[in-house]
Amino acid sequence: MRKFQIILTIIVGAACLAIEASLVAGLVYALNIDPPYVVVIDAGHGGRDNGVSSDFLHEADINLEISRYIRDELQSRGIIVVMTRDDEHSLADGDEPNKKRADMKRRHDIIERAKPDLAISIHVNSFPRIPSVHGIQTFFHGESGQPFAEFIQKHINQTDLCDKDRIAMKGDYFILETAYPSVLIECGFLSNPSDHAKLSNIEYKQTLAKHLADSIMESLKSTTPIQRLTKWYNLG
Ligand SMILES: [Zn+2]
Repeated sequence: MRKFQIILTIIVGAACLAIEASLVAGLVYALNIDPPYVVVIDAGHGGRDNGVSSDFLHEADINLEISRYIRDELQSRGIIVVMTRDDEHSLADGDEPNKKRADMKRRHDIIERAKPDLAISIHVNSFPRIPSVHGIQTFFHGESGQPFAEFIQKHINQTDLCDKDRIAMKGDYFILETAYPSVLIECGFLSNPSDHAKLSNIEYKQTLAKHLADSIMESLKSTTPIQRLTKWYNLG
């Protein structure tokens, strides 16, 4: 009889522990305790550095405009957004001897401090030698950024913003060399007449930002960072 009681106590105890663990996990899901995603948006260039230019269009301004639209889209969906710059200034407008290097270092520092689920750098391209070159191209550097870049490129390929399928490419950009998943998006070519017209159109830039925000959301959900998975396993 005593033996039976001990076994029963063990079984009931184990069941209670299991229920408690699943209750905690259920509560965490229900209360949405899982912290929101953090995305850093880096509007390329700024200050004296206009990036590429054509007529009166400057890349730095376009980058900032598109970045702000993406920020608004992501924030409305509960994402925490950190901008590396939110005005026309560079991050190193001072008396520093090597402004470009100081500017890039500060962008890096912002990404490292934010510990984002994803960092996305917005740029515009130009290739005047061959004006027919056009389109939106996504780049990654490290392995952690690759699935995000591929996902975003695939999504953009399926929209009417793209006239042909492109693949995400490995790129040697300093901004991508962070400890966090990072991608860089070249949003078109100012040297191409069609892209030039699009990038001077507010509605186009808003539509582009909406599609980029859609693809960022989907990529965050489908390419769950390993630290989030680990967190769930520890809870379970
Ligand atoms: Zn650029």
